[in-house]
Amino acid sequence: MFRTHTCGELRISHVSSQVTLSGWVQRSRKMGGMTFIDLRDRYGITQLVFNEEIDVALCEQANRLGREYVIQVEGTVSERINKNTNLLTGDVEIIVSKLHVLNISITPPFTIEDSTDGGDDLRMKYRYLDLRRNIVRANLELRHKMTFEVRSYLDKLGFFEVETPVLIGSTPEGARDFVVPSRMNPGQFYALPQSPQIFKQLLMVSGFDRYFQIVKCFRDEDLRADRQPEFTQIDCEMSFVDQEDVIAVFEGMSKHLFKSVRGIEITESFPRMSWRDSMKYYGSDKPDLRFGMKLVELMDIMKGYGFSVFDNAAYIGGICAEGAASYTRKQLDALTDFVKRPQIGAQGLVYARVEADGTVKSSVDKFYAQEVLQQMKGAFGAKAGDLILILSGDNTMKTRKQLSELRLEMGNQLGLRDKNKFTCLWVIDFPLFEWDEEQRRFMAMHHPFTSPKPEDIHLLDSDPGAVRANAYDMVINGVEVGGGSIRIHDSGLQNKMFELLGFTPERAQEQFGFLMNAFKYGAPPHGGLAYGLDRWVSLFAGLDSIRDCIAFPKNNSGRDVMIDAPSTIEASQLEELHLIITTKE
Ligand code: ASP
Repeated sequence: MFRTHTCGELRISHVSSQVTLSGWVQRSRKMGGMTFIDLRDRYGITQLVFNEEIDVALCEQANRLGREYVIQVEGTVSERINKNTNLLTGDVEIIVSKLHVLNISITPPFTIEDSTDGGDDLRMKYRYLDLRRNIVRANLELRHKMTFEVRSYLDKLGFFEVETPVLIGSTPEGARDFVVPSRMNPGQFYALPQSPQIFKQLLMVSGFDRYFQIVKCFRDEDLRADRQPEFTQIDCEMSFVDQEDVIAVFEGMSKHLFKSVRGIEITESFPRMSWRDSMKYYGSDKPDLRFGMKLVELMDIMKGYGFSVFDNAAYIGGICAEGAASYTRKQLDALTDFVKRPQIGAQGLVYARVEADGTVKSSVDKFYAQEVLQQMKGAFGAKAGDLILILSGDNTMKTRKQLSELRLEMGNQLGLRDKNKFTCLWVIDFPLFEWDEEQRRFMAMHHPFTSPKPEDIHLLDSDPGAVRANAYDMVINGVEVGGGSIRIHDSGLQNKMFELLGFTPERAQEQFGFLMNAFKYGAPPHGGLAYGLDRWVSLFAGLDSIRDCIAFPKNNSGRDVMIDAPSTIEASQLEELHLIITTKE
């Protein structure tokens, strides 16, 4: 028997028992004639004690152990004199009587402790060692708990988990596909699914009624902290439902996860906000509602006083940062640099402080009389000690988005984005289409299978940009954790949609013929959504990057540095796949 207990199990009640433990040597300390070793496994850390006075040979053997050696020990549980309140096993230690080395280890490239000396690259290269660290392992444990709770919740509601294929054709979710060449079909390629969207809709046509799948999806996009080329969705679909039904089931699931995973009881309904209001007041379709600082439009108040930047603007708006009037010149310059960064792209930043006596002192005082500034102050409801920050631009949406970035930055700087506070929100009534300036055509905002709101269908031809969709996103703390829609289930309307999206009937037939056909055999009304599991786990774990909750993630260039992929393949493999590599300069 390798062990009677794990390294996280022993408590004061075990004192005097004989136990056997197995695990890794995390660190050892020699103090006088005593040697102390922290023995670690997945469950915790237990202190081992070797005493020279009792057994010299055993103690010498212990002194020869290196970091990460795998050992087995037998001994007696004893009460510690210096208790360690940071450890669950901190009341006890093992007086070792037998030591057996199960395996040795070369010196690890970084220390395997909560705060390690290993940089990001090194930890990724030796991810199997990184995963021995408590904090990383805890994230994966949380992930396990979440998927377990998702399955149990959905199973109780009659959802079936069905696997859909990974080698498929292109799914139009708006990102680039990863493709796989087919050996048996020269010159042809599979695409990896961006999501199982079409399959889950077909399962509804098949009468499955309630489907879910915890599934890997693939999108060949530029990577960011919240994006990986392969990521996991909790993908769901239901038949005979409208938007309210879907929202009810999945709000329920979210509350269940909050309760079972984070111990947070949410009793009230999640608030809802229309996409329009969300853009107007927060400049974003995923507003972080942990704090206020709403965008206030100032066109009526600030235009027409000879300040050409504002006079020529299509939008002037600002936010009010409570209590931030004490910002120094240096801090304000840094904020100006922040909004001018190419990723944000504002031209400049106007600021105004509300002084202790209520007067407003701004960076554009020479254009505005105090009376106008007071009006502006009133628009924000600002009070003494507040700081008003204003942006303007020739494009309303763009400027609102810039203000949104500034708002989040101020939220960070003022400590308003507490990771242990959660605010949930449904954003609803998304537009069906989004105008693509580059391609000069409408694109589906969600995807081409999303249904328009019945009351807006008459606008499909005359004013497509004004048509709203039966689409909804769930947003937690400014993170879009999930989104979905009620689908089109009528082949006529689906055809119309393809036409509006610029598909010729031939191309629509070629790409989606099977779906249009399926819709001719009695497709039920259906709808659903998908959650981004990685994002949600990182939210619950308080992580800045989704990488930390993925066992073996890719780096920012999409590489797995541990197994060194992607990599070249043998010439013979290329030939078999009918591929020739042409290297571009
Ligand atoms: N397939 C969609 C997505 O990946 C979600 C959905 O509409 O259910 O965003």
